[in-house]
Amino acid sequence: MKVLDQLRNLVEDAIQGSTVFEKSSVLNPDYIPRNLPHREQQIRELTINFRDIIVNPGSSSIRVVISGKTGTGKTVTTKKFGEVFTQVGKEKGIRLIYLHINCHRQRTLYLILMEIARQLNLQIPNRGLSSQETFKLIYDYLEKRNIQLIVTLDEFDYFISTSPVEDIYFLVRIYDELNVLVKRVHYIFIVREMTSLSGLDKSIKDHILKNIIDFPPYTSSELYDILMDRIVNEKAFREGVVEEEAVRFISDIYGADKGGSGNARLAIETLELAGKIADSEGSILVTVEHAKKANSKINPELSIIMDTLKDLDLHQLLVIKAIMNLHKKEGSDFFPMGMVEDQYNLVSKELGEAPRRHTQLFEYIRRLKLMGLLTTRQSGKGMRGRTTLISLSIPVSVELEDLITKEIRDRLLQQKNY
Ligand code: ADP
Ligand code: MG
Repeated sequence: MKVLDQLRNLVEDAIQGSTVFEKSSVLNPDYIPRNLPHREQQIRELTINFRDIIVNPGSSSIRVVISGKTGTGKTVTTKKFGEVFTQVGKEKGIRLIYLHINCHRQRTLYLILMEIARQLNLQIPNRGLSSQETFKLIYDYLEKRNIQLIVTLDEFDYFISTSPVEDIYFLVRIYDELNVLVKRVHYIFIVREMTSLSGLDKSIKDHILKNIIDFPPYTSSELYDILMDRIVNEKAFREGVVEEEAVRFISDIYGADKGGSGNARLAIETLELAGKIADSEGSILVTVEHAKKANSKINPELSIIMDTLKDLDLHQLLVIKAIMNLHKKEGSDFFPMGMVEDQYNLVSKELGEAPRRHTQLFEYIRRLKLMGLLTTRQSGKGMRGRTTLISLSIPVSVELEDLITKEIRDRLLQQKNY
């Protein structure tokens, strides 16, 4: 009965030309959801690192580095942590303020300090104070009000790559300069790559590299949970309109374990676009077809590549399949020619096909390279002699695999029929 009612609503909505969305704003990149599936561990680690602010305030200045690729939830998780942690601090009688600063926007030490002051509602006189003086004003302000401050410097890679060493030094070692008793300023540095820190002075590194929290790319099933949370708990869509298979499809495209980037932002964007496409087609459901269309809009190269694949002949496809197998088996990107050839021979035999000879294989690889499907390079030192290393130029996704399998099957069938 209940199900029937739901369907009835769907049909009535559709007749009125309505939409699959309920609260589409929860799909905005800046929206902070109530839950952050699969980031509980990171929030726990942040809490453990910062617990002294609540348990033993003033005893030390805490610094944590967060590292992870784009879309792994670094920004949203630290903001959420800041929100919850200050709330808990408040309940325990600690005056705690959390500030989130984006170093893309505040590009210099001076602008960062001004932004801290601005967010604290602290007036800084307009007479060209030095960084030291400005920081002193901020510190005095915190001291007078007995406030503990956590500052997150997001996109900190950017600050490091553009700022003079003295400024970086100033920021991370502030207390050695100031010589204060009660520590009040604590930092979270967010970077995409730990290597962006490797060029720094040892003394700076020692200061910030004690606590590192890693944000790994999301797997397919993690992305599935994140998308489902937005759909079901946050009510981005009307109840029951998003087909589960569509969510699975999107999760599989971006899941790191399936060769995707593990980027939750792109997964959410694709879901949103799938909904818009469903609306524009007047569909009352968001189906896997909509998800596929959304994906090829978001990844236009992919649809071009998919078209190219249709023009390849059987053995060219087998070469790609061989490299894809290696990619999955070895977890790396570049493979020596000999390894590709062995795998190609294996794949061919499995399908009852006589493998082509070495020179022919070389010609296939040359052509696939011209089409932009493969990349080659010469091996560097460390390998005996120099050998050609081969890689796919396109990400190995479930979609790609499915397509290759299908194309190979079609070619084999065609052969039989002639
Ligand atoms: P990063 O800062 O690492 O590039 P963001 O924090 O901006 O990533 O996250 C990208 C998008 O994915 C945001 O819309 C964010 O809300 C969402 N997101 C990331 N991780 C999660 C998660 N664990 N649960 C829910 N949404 C998430
Ligand atoms: Mg971010």
